[in-house]
Amino acid sequence: MAKLAPHEVLDLEPDASLVEIKIAYRRMALAVHPDTTPGDPFAAARFREGRAAYEAMLREREERKAPPVSAVRIACVLVGPHLVGTLPVHASGAQRQRWIPLTLWAMRTCGDCEGAGSFAASSRVPFLARREECARCDGTGVVGVERRLRVRLTTLRTGTAIRLRGKGLGPGGHAFVHLAA
Ligand SMILES: [Zn+2]
Repeated sequence: MAKLAPHEVLDLEPDASLVEIKIAYRRMALAVHPDTTPGDPFAAARFREGRAAYEAMLREREERKAPPVSAVRIACVLVGPHLVGTLPVHASGAQRQRWIPLTLWAMRTCGDCEGAGSFAASSRVPFLARREECARCDGTGVVGVERRLRVRLTTLRTGTAIRLRGKGLGPGGHAFVHLAA
């Protein structure tokens, strides 16, 4: 038999109110509590299942209530096609198993001027070098690149690194985020 969702165990709608959840749990507990049904293994199992469902529903409500984590910007370095950065887990408000929006950004060589910051412009006067500033990078030779994504952290253990497959720049590029204190 397929496992029932917590709200199904308690015979509730998925978005039941806190009062409805408590009433349903109390009704279930009264009916199958081991004290009122001694020696009934089915009732004991049903009680444990109901208790777990009740706790799961309360937890879900808390998670829904928690304010969304604001996007965390991480300055990364480009290592080949890979983006590598560090996420300060505690300062970011990240919680285990919660989705957090990340913006990974890095500076990369400007593709228009190939890092030179300017182009050789054609000049009518021979030998008089004239250069035109690259408009894309404002003459700096580098441009900022950004990757916005949502990640679900399965661990908050600092010192570990998570690999976000295919989230680097270009083919075969991944993002690596080191979790730091
Ligand atoms: Zn440029």
